[in-house]
Amino acid sequence: MMYNASLKNKTWTQTGGTVFKYIECEHINEISDIIKCYKGQKKVFTAGNSSNCIFSDRYLDIVILKLGKYFDGVMDINSDVIRIGGATKVYAKYKDILCKNGIGGLEFMCSIPGTVGGMVAMNAGCYGMDISKCCKRICYIDINGDIKIRETQSPDFSYRKNNIKDIAVIIWSEFYYYNSCSDVIMTKINKNLKQRQETQIQRFTTGSTFKNVNNNISAWSLLKKHCIDLDFNGAIFSKKHFNFITKTSPKTSSNDFINLINCAKKIVKKESGIDLDQEVILIN
Ligand SMILES: Cc1cc2nc3c(=O)[nH]c(=O)nc-3n(C[C@H](O)[C@H](O)[C@H](O)COP(=O)(O)OP(=O)(O)OC[C@H]3O[C@@H](n4cnc5c(N)ncnc54)[C@H](O)[C@@H]3O)c2cc1C
Repeated sequence: MMYNASLKNKTWTQTGGTVFKYIECEHINEISDIIKCYKGQKKVFTAGNSSNCIFSDRYLDIVILKLGKYFDGVMDINSDVIRIGGATKVYAKYKDILCKNGIGGLEFMCSIPGTVGGMVAMNAGCYGMDISKCCKRICYIDINGDIKIRETQSPDFSYRKNNIKDIAVIIWSEFYYYNSCSDVIMTKINKNLKQRQETQIQRFTTGSTFKNVNNNISAWSLLKKHCIDLDFNGAIFSKKHFNFITKTSPKTSSNDFINLINCAKKIVKKESGIDLDQEVILIN
């Protein structure tokens, strides 16, 4: 636990200021106690890998709660369901877990730089799959600090979010899988990873900044057309993927990311009449 904790080395963009308190929890009761203790007093924000978040450069009077090592990894496997801890970074060790246990159908997750908790919260997806299609049940601490286990159904999930209103912290999630062999699993994972490397940057970015407008108009194409030359102290739209913001200088800060986002919104509105809807979460 740290007071006045600096976020700079704790976020995927390596930007951000300081927060009142940063707590890494190793026990479910500890999480529950924190939620109860700060209810109505201070905002408690659950952070995964912060790959979809930008934290302000200023001091934030909030508590950041992170799941510790106890919640990292496979917790149980039965004939068609695997239970994975909320802190598990899927792009890191998950690939080996799937191959070793012959778990098919979940390969898409391996190329997303989030944790299982963050992916369920955001209904993350790619390559035609998303969490809503494979998630069976979750265990979470609700906003009152109580432990709950809930079946999830598709209507609980929508584009980039889940609709379960009382979630504070997702502890674990169960996913349906089918039996497969390690060669097939590894081939799928490597194909996805290769495609990523060819089309996207990976570090110092929050991934897609804006949602697509509809099936015909992508945020990507609007940014390419109107915003490609914008540069806020090194924060720019990536030339590899125009909807990804990246930083080109160690001095680039969260505020530079935020200024670029706000400026792009204004320009796109002025030039095309379209309101871009943000996908990245700003905590400020
Ligand atoms: C290079 C790159 C590529 C990406 N590609 C994709 C992609 O293909 N598809 C896609 O969907 N997204 C993609 N993303 C966005 C991001 O990785 C996903 O949204 C991911 O699910 C976020 O997980 P996280 O652990 O980093 O969550 P964070 O960014 O830490 O948090 C995101 C949200 O989830 C909540 N949250 C996090 N953990 C928990 C928990 N345990 N319990 C409750 N709430 C929690 C947070 O409070 C916050 O509201 C990409 C990002 C990057 C940087």
